[in-house]
Amino acid sequence: MPRELSAGAVIFRRAKREPEFLVLRYGLGHWDFVKGNIEKGEHEKETVVREVAEETGIRNVRFVEGYREVIRYFYRWKGQGIFKLVVFYLVETRRRKVTLSHEHIDYRWLPYEEARKQLSFKNSERVLLRARNILKGKSN
Ligand code: ATP
Repeated sequence: MPRELSAGAVIFRRAKREPEFLVLRYGLGHWDFVKGNIEKGEHEKETVVREVAEETGIRNVRFVEGYREVIRYFYRWKGQGIFKLVVFYLVETRRRKVTLSHEHIDYRWLPYEEARKQLSFKNSERVLLRARNILKGKSN
């Protein structure tokens, strides 16, 4: 069965009350974080930096130490089953402005609870929860 390997980022910015997280609406309809395929020879964090820049226009991200979350899922594409693994990192930006690529049709900066409700998949909610916990100083 074909396998796909992607890396992505939970991007947050410090706002007045609590951190806000960036969620994107994919052309396929779902809401999720920035992510994309790990290209040959790339390290995970290099993919993250590249994908964040390509999909949001955001550069100069700061990685939060100690955060790395993996999700796995299975989907069908043109009748073919695909097994996918996505590695997420947590990154901070000071920028609010987002410039979307052709892959996404909308975006929102949302505080934790609203971001959680906006996400389309349970496994991404878990990724977000761990991000919130690490930002609060909890060890998950
Ligand atoms: P990438 O951003 O890695 O390039 P993509 O845009 O090609 O990915 P996905 O976002 O992985 O594609 O979506 C492919 C299929 O998988 C869609 O049918 C989508 O509904 C489903 N899917 C996406 N994310 C998840 C998830 N976290 N859990 C389960 N299914 C998912």
